[in-house]
Amino acid sequence: MTDLPSTGAPGPPRPTTTAQSLGEHTQLPRNLIKPAPPHVPTPPQLTRSPTLYATRHATSDTESDAPSDYGRTADAGDNTLDVIVIGAGQAGLALAWHLAHQGRRFLVLDAAPELGHTWRNRWDSLRLFSPAQYDSLPGMAFPAAADTYPTKDHVADYLAAYAARFELPVLLGTAVTRLEQQQGRFAVHTTQGVLHARQVVVATGPFQRPVVPTMAGELASGVVQLHSAEYRNPNQIPRGPVVVVGAGNSGLQIAAELAGDHEVTLAVGSTALALPQRLLGRDLFWWLTKLKLLAKTADSRLAKRMQAGGDLVIGSSLKAVRRRGVSIRPRVTGTTRDGMLFADGHREAPTTVIWATGFRSDYSWIQVPGLLADGQVVHQRGVTGVPGLYFLGLTWQHTRGSALLGFVEHDAAWLAAFMHPNASRSSHDTPAQALDRLALR
Ligand SMILES: Cc1cc2nc3c(=O)[nH]c(=O)nc-3n(C[C@H](O)[C@H](O)[C@H](O)COP(=O)(O)OP(=O)(O)OC[C@H]3O[C@@H](n4cnc5c(N)ncnc54)[C@H](O)[C@@H]3O)c2cc1C
Repeated sequence: MTDLPSTGAPGPPRPTTTAQSLGEHTQLPRNLIKPAPPHVPTPPQLTRSPTLYATRHATSDTESDAPSDYGRTADAGDNTLDVIVIGAGQAGLALAWHLAHQGRRFLVLDAAPELGHTWRNRWDSLRLFSPAQYDSLPGMAFPAAADTYPTKDHVADYLAAYAARFELPVLLGTAVTRLEQQQGRFAVHTTQGVLHARQVVVATGPFQRPVVPTMAGELASGVVQLHSAEYRNPNQIPRGPVVVVGAGNSGLQIAAELAGDHEVTLAVGSTALALPQRLLGRDLFWWLTKLKLLAKTADSRLAKRMQAGGDLVIGSSLKAVRRRGVSIRPRVTGTTRDGMLFADGHREAPTTVIWATGFRSDYSWIQVPGLLADGQVVHQRGVTGVPGLYFLGLTWQHTRGSALLGFVEHDAAWLAAFMHPNASRSSHDTPAQALDRLALR
């Protein structure tokens, strides 16, 4: 794990994640990044329970910013949690910070074996396009100088340090396999057992299942094929010509990197608006924030135009990759055993194909009727039509910032306030009425 860059300020404590480092608590599951607060009841159904211990006393020699009334509202006789958050990425952790400050009894569950796993598994040279001053979660600044671009491992380290600093109750290695409603509460089936909660927040990320077109199946088995989600670095790619399919941020960056020692063709299906990282001496995010573009709500006219234009390409462009020697072709229209056919009639027989063709969401594990239409979540600002079931971190959940590291906190703050039992609204409200009542739209 990469150390966090030093900023001169005292850094957050490193997470103590292993059973070994917990001394006498060796029976603790190794996947518990931080124990649940002492007042959270141990759900009896778990086969490996999140054993509790008094974190703040156990780590009293280290700095802790956990809220002092953490878990205060707990009722020791009730095994139903207030909230279960599914997903401990930036969205889940930002919400957890608010839930902790509200003193709610909650757990954050994540399938991954470590915090920051999503980021750590992205390609080696990946750096954020959002500079460090725009990458903070609530309560803890990203520990890097302004106008620097953190690596993906710095982000992973930051998320782990964040959970540790606020003693957020994260249960790792716990995949949710089914979510259903039972007698007015939610049953969350996991690889470790069943948990129950009155409210559930799905924060499983906007980029879940890699999308590869069916034509990939036509290529001869000797052609190496991978999705951009599996790409790590040029050493992984055998000698010979490479076709990168898709010219979004990932496709452009991967094509440019491979052009150093491979013959690379980039197939461009559609061209998104490409903007330079810096304009007139300022980072693009300075301009986007100044012009309030990241705060435009999804239903505004400008936001609809932005959504129709596809995702912004930041810091790279077709011109720039062409300068690095990449051949630019139009979209791939078909494949045969021998190779690929492009819309301009060109044929190519690559050794490797990298599908930078995006992701889709997968909510097949959510067995709650009325939630999805055409596989998409029906919601308003993350509030679904199912009382108690919420989403966070969706692309354009509320604004363009909804799925960005340094901006998801706005949706997290709003959702935490909305979910709070004392939020004044009628239980008969539809989400839209509730939003109006709270004057939060
Ligand atoms: C290549 C790339 C570069 C990006 N660069 C930037 C950037 O520079 N700046 C920026 O602000 N944003 C960037 N983003 C966008 C965004 O910040 C990231 O995608 C971010 O990872 C989203 O965070 P999240 O918490 O919503 O989801 P994720 O980080 O995907 O976290 C979701 C978590 O849910 C868990 N999970 C999923 N399903 C289950 C389940 N069934 N049970 C239990 N756990 C589950 C996963 O293990 C995961 O840990 C980038 C995205 C990509 C793909």
